[in-house]
Amino acid sequence: MTLSDSFGRQIDYLRLSLTDRCDFRCVYCMAEDMEFLPRAQVLSLEECETLVETFVQLGIKKVRLTGGEPLIRNGVVDLVRRLKQIPGLEELLLTTNGSRLEELAPALKTAGLDRINVSLDTLDADRFKALSRTGKLEKVLAGLQAAKAAGFKRIKLNSVILKNRNADELENLVEFALQERFDISFIEAMPLGHIDDHQRSEEFISSADIQDVLQKRWQLKDSNYSTGGPSRYWQINDSQIGFISPHSDNFCASCNRIRVTAEGRLLLCLGNEHSLDLKAIMRRYPGETERLKNSIIDAMGNKPERHHFDINETQIVRFMNTTGG
Ligand code: SAM
Ligand code: SF4
Repeated sequence: MTLSDSFGRQIDYLRLSLTDRCDFRCVYCMAEDMEFLPRAQVLSLEECETLVETFVQLGIKKVRLTGGEPLIRNGVVDLVRRLKQIPGLEELLLTTNGSRLEELAPALKTAGLDRINVSLDTLDADRFKALSRTGKLEKVLAGLQAAKAAGFKRIKLNSVILKNRNADELENLVEFALQERFDISFIEAMPLGHIDDHQRSEEFISSADIQDVLQKRWQLKDSNYSTGGPSRYWQINDSQIGFISPHSDNFCASCNRIRVTAEGRLLLCLGNEHSLDLKAIMRRYPGETERLKNSIIDAMGNKPERHHFDINETQIVRFMNTTGG
């Protein structure tokens, strides 16, 4: 069984948001004062498991747990252990801000988690505090070391670069990745949700500008490395340097993914509002797997061809934390 949309794209990658809550308030992701979903509206861990089982039966091979901050969800390690037992699921991945990784990395590894991405936008402690509003750099760095010590391979850093806030750290971030043998991807900020910290257009820097900076220092070799995601990779030494360029290098033609939000809405595209309320179906018709499967198959017909982001406008009112970034 494979899931495909009306443009012939095969969908085999699901990003599942375990919570919209977060212990950070990154300036490009959230407003300072956020309202989160009432708990009853968030999928239970059992519902998350049912959904993953159903999606895997439909042909999903790779699942990434995300949020909000997935590691602040109680029971996350046990969920990882249960999801890893689903026959047909080839890769179980997680994206985290790293704040709880120091304590959870060994248990996540034992539970079977395959790979981890950790967000890291700066190596300066004061800046880290300013960008995340509530986070501590030293905790994230300790979490990265714990993940390494626990045996995770190909740990990837995700950095959102803002022109006037951390663009002067590009070389430091790459040096750090090379030294620690991490991969690193630079992400162009997307206009998701109304933020109150800055005008997105004033802080925008494109992947091409980032590459220009890095090319002055390193010879970037085109790499055919792929994780099946939107990153295009270059190689320096053993590390893969990725660029996720939703504005400057549209990757929709090869889109293989869908998202499920913390409240159980199936999102067919990060940059469009189409969604299907899977939680409502599960709660109204418990145990009716065929009904759930048919609804998902039908929804694929609504997957749009592409997104059209405009950095000058917030077209999508949901924030990245509710989207499941
Ligand atoms: N809390 C976890 C973390 O920060 O890694 C997982 C969720 S977070 C929404 C996933 C990724 O989305 C992070 O790497 C974050 O930097 C990125 N992100 C958040 N808001 C974004 C935006 N408006 N544009 C581009 N990337 C964004
Ligand atoms: Fe939280 Fe991740 Fe958003 Fe930062 S990017 S506020 S860590 S969800």
